[in-house]
Amino acid sequence: MLSAMPLRPSRATILGAIVVTLLGVGFVTSQLGCPGEKDEGQDKRRNSRTPFMAKVLAVTDGDTLRLEREGPTLKVRLHGVDAPERAQAYGQAARRFVSARVLGKRVRVTPKKKRDRYGRLVATIAVGGEDLGELLLNAGLAWHYARYAKSDKLARLQREARAAKRGLWATASPTAPWDWRRARRGKAKTSRPPPKTTGKVLYRGNTRSKIFHHKNCTHFTCANCQATFASAGDAVAAGYRPHRRCVRHSFRLP
Ligand SMILES: [Zn+2]
Repeated sequence: MLSAMPLRPSRATILGAIVVTLLGVGFVTSQLGCPGEKDEGQDKRRNSRTPFMAKVLAVTDGDTLRLEREGPTLKVRLHGVDAPERAQAYGQAARRFVSARVLGKRVRVTPKKKRDRYGRLVATIAVGGEDLGELLLNAGLAWHYARYAKSDKLARLQREARAAKRGLWATASPTAPWDWRRARRGKAKTSRPPPKTTGKVLYRGNTRSKIFHHKNCTHFTCANCQATFASAGDAVAAGYRPHRRCVRHSFRLP
C-alpha cells in the first residue's frame, strides 16, 4: 500500500512522518520497501512501449532480470520465452547463460505490455544487437512461451534447437517450465496447508530458508513463501528469521 503511493516530495514527507510516528522510531529513510521494490511507485513510463537503455544488475533466472534505469531498479520478465526455473534441470545453465551475456552491461529494453501479475515489466532485451530471448531459444535453454507470445521466429528457433538436441533438448522428454511449476503448485497444495487467507498478512515466511519477508519486499511472493504471519513477532515465534534487507529498509521488529 505504501509503495503504491506517488513519491512526490510533499507526500513522501508526510508519509515518512506518519510511518516514523507509527513505528516510534526515526528509522525509516528514503526507502519504504526492499531494494528492487522501490520501482513499484507510480512511474508514468511504466506502461510505455518506448525502448530504453538500462544496466543489468542481477539475473534472477533465465528469463527474469533486475535492471537499473536512472536510479530505481526494475524487474523485467523476458517476453516470449520461458526458461527453466532455477531448481529445474537446466535452470542454472540458463541463468549462467544470461548472466554471461548481460550482467553488468547496458541493454536495450523494449516493453511489450504492462506489468505481469508479479509486477514485472514484460519486455524483450537486446544486447549487442542480439535478442536475449532468441539467444536463449537458440541455445536450447528456454522454451517458446507460445501461450503469451505467438511468434513464428521463436517457434522456429525452438524447433531448430530441439532438432539439434541443444541444451535441455539433449534430454529425451524435458519438462516445460509451466508444467514444472504447475506440478510444484499441486505438490504444495497436497503436502502442506494453504496459506491462511483470513486476517492481515504482513509477512510471509520462506518455508525452505526459514527467512521471512515484509509485504513490501520483492521476495514476499517467492515460491516457497507459504507461511503467513500478521506480525514479525509471530514469524519469529514460528522459528523464522527476518530478511536482512527487509529489516534495514522497511520495518523494525517489535
Ligand atoms: Zn525481504
